[in-house]
Amino acid sequence: MSDYRIETKCVQGGYTPGNGEPRQIPIVQSTTFKYATGEDMGKLFDLEASGYFYTRLQNPTNDYVAAKIAELEGGTAAMLTSSGQAANFFAMFNLASCGDHMVASSSIYGGTFNLISVTMAKMGIETTFVSPDCTDEELNAAFRPNTKLVFGETIANPALTVLDIEQFAKAAHAHGVPLIIDNTFATPVNCRPFEWGADIVTHSTTKYMDGHGVGVGGAIVDSGKFDWMAHADKFPGLCTPDDSYHGITYAEKFGKAGAFITKCTAQLMRDFGSIQSPQNAFYLNLGLESLHVRMARHCENGQAVAEFLQKHPKVASVSYCGLPGDKYHERAKKYLPKGSCGVVSFELKGGREAASVFMNSLRLAAIETHVADARTCCLNPASTTHRQMNDEQLKAAGVPAGLVRMSCGLESADDLIADIAQALEKV
Ligand SMILES: *Cc1c(COP(=O)(O)O)cnc(C)c1O
Repeated sequence: MSDYRIETKCVQGGYTPGNGEPRQIPIVQSTTFKYATGEDMGKLFDLEASGYFYTRLQNPTNDYVAAKIAELEGGTAAMLTSSGQAANFFAMFNLASCGDHMVASSSIYGGTFNLISVTMAKMGIETTFVSPDCTDEELNAAFRPNTKLVFGETIANPALTVLDIEQFAKAAHAHGVPLIIDNTFATPVNCRPFEWGADIVTHSTTKYMDGHGVGVGGAIVDSGKFDWMAHADKFPGLCTPDDSYHGITYAEKFGKAGAFITKCTAQLMRDFGSIQSPQNAFYLNLGLESLHVRMARHCENGQAVAEFLQKHPKVASVSYCGLPGDKYHERAKKYLPKGSCGVVSFELKGGREAASVFMNSLRLAAIETHVADARTCCLNPASTTHRQMNDEQLKAAGVPAGLVRMSCGLESADDLIADIAQALEKV
């Protein structure tokens, strides 16, 4: 599939049926797999042969879908997880352990920020946060001798900042560590971080990849480019024998192309068990089949809504990198030439009260914490996710009280704009 364009990979990647086999990927709804002899199965346990034995670690349905996502990102190996949270945790914890340090963009999803700054800190992994707009000097100053990785989001949720992936990749590599990029909002249709130097990509497949709001899920993809053995002192988990697998050294046995995902499956999925169900993997694949068609429409609708809002007298400001005046417009031209995503955020002049009247008056756009599916939805952080903060604190956090995050779905842009217009009239 690697010679085909992304549209073809969306539809047909990951699974090629043989003669007389199902055209659509089969849902292998089985926890276990049968073998003729104990020796056959023993080889699987020792990672001497590849195959399936227990769905907590691997399942054929998941592997077809993971293979498609690997093709979409241009990676060498991938795995599915039960959620985006699990994907980000696994990707980081596969490299960093107690006593280690990470560098992360400060503009990231709130759930990931909590994971890093609270839960992983309790596990003894410290993180230095840097602005996505930092200088090279500021970025380089964040590294320590025990830094194991750099983390950022292509388009941050919900701040909608665009990361300079090349700048972050260069700094990571200069310090002998990989760059992990959460590519959830852009999707591989609009940006493939490996082409800009990233080493590992993660996804909350819950968002655009699924696209219909039916299943929570995640994915991790390896570019196969990072040379673990060249930095063996930093990554003992990959470069020294694993006692729980009869002394296998992942980077030696599976090489650059396979070591990261094999270790992540064999150790972390085995021990934490955050596997995606085969049924959800099947739904995810249905979403992936139309991802390229849907992303274009989400972007078209996002652009139309952002342009309408920008001209409206009751709107104080609009954040959308597709707008020529936006702070991230130039960076988006480089990294996201086909468009960014359908999420637009804007501030109403009347603050929290105006946001409340506006949202309650919408007919098409539902109030939800979700983003990135076929149906338009919106959220006022000040009255929901950030409601414990007062107006001063909200302003300091970059989430003013009148801020509305709107995820433009696949409806008619004209209908969405008419709905927004009538709701703004009520403000
Ligand atoms: C939603 C989201 C996550 C978390 O994913 P879940 O599937 O909800 O666990 C991680 N990163 C980004 C950018 C997200 O938008």
